[in-house]
Amino acid sequence: MLRDDLQLIRKRLEKAKNIAVFAHVMPDGDSVGSVLALGWALEDAGKTVQYISQDPIPEHFHFLFEYCKDGKNPFVSEPVGADCFVTPDISSVDRAGSFFLDHPEFSVDICIDHHISNEGVGKLNWIVPESPAACEVLKNILPELGFSFTQRISSALLCGIITDTNSFTNSNVYAGSLRAAADLIDNGADIFKISHIAYEEHTIQEMDFWRIGMSNLKMENGLAWSKVSKAEREARGIFNSDDSGFVSYMGNTTGIKVSVLFIELDERITKISWRGLPGYNVAEVALEFDGGGHKAASGATVHGPRMDELIPVVLDKTNAMIFRSSGQL
Ligand code: 5GP
Ligand code: MN
Repeated sequence: MLRDDLQLIRKRLEKAKNIAVFAHVMPDGDSVGSVLALGWALEDAGKTVQYISQDPIPEHFHFLFEYCKDGKNPFVSEPVGADCFVTPDISSVDRAGSFFLDHPEFSVDICIDHHISNEGVGKLNWIVPESPAACEVLKNILPELGFSFTQRISSALLCGIITDTNSFTNSNVYAGSLRAAADLIDNGADIFKISHIAYEEHTIQEMDFWRIGMSNLKMENGLAWSKVSKAEREARGIFNSDDSGFVSYMGNTTGIKVSVLFIELDERITKISWRGLPGYNVAEVALEFDGGGHKAASGATVHGPRMDELIPVVLDKTNAMIFRSSGQL
């Protein structure tokens, strides 16, 4: 990547009038934070911005809407009449939802991301795989794109950095992540409020989700895994599928190298999440199931087999990766 690419991105944004910025499916804090921060920067520059999310925005991030026009949720499910399409934190085009798949006449103009598996979703790309959050990538390039850090932009960016780094504790966090956060705090982002609401606070439903995960937990040879079926979720009135950190919690058990969580979204749709300690590249396994992500945290959404048919196949591939990696440590 050349610094020149940033100038091309800047020119493309300057030329655009009506810009659609996409969250990814099942948006997390980094997705919501990067879409809002970039959208607000573009609004401040006089652009019309459309905030797009196919899936609902989790309640944890609704506090950011207080900075939106009329304090309202600005997200809609599809863009209309946009002349520029931007996808922050999106590692493959299907992660933007079905819009680009249903409308092949449109394509992504600009992708700003941090996923190692991203091969270049946009016509112009700025991908920094060393960065632990798309919001950190944005923080580092906003000045070169000609934008400044208002308090609301700083708050949205800090929300993404705190949530995607597990509050600065992931293996890919480096000193620059903390410096980026410090700058955002200097610009008015409230670290306690953001970290409490977006990261630490949880609902009783999320506790119930963990209860199911705990009761199905299995651990063997350095692998911890669990599953949550649709019936189990619905019996407890849980209609979303946000695991709220349960897969990481399993992975942090003494002696565990890799954790996997299976969530049955529908009868033949399973969401898989992997977490791995340094030295165990879970993105390798996720790619085998058409997923993606990072070495330490990856995911995939598998259509076709029932969850219970899929589980042994995924566990075999994951165990093979653990075996290969252990040999190399
Ligand atoms: P999580 O397990 O928290 O949903 O996601 C962990 C990482 O894997 C995230 O960086 C996310 O972008 C990526 N990821 C999660 N689900 C999918 C998926 O269905 N497809 C792809 N390509 N990546 C995913
Ligand atoms: Mn991210």
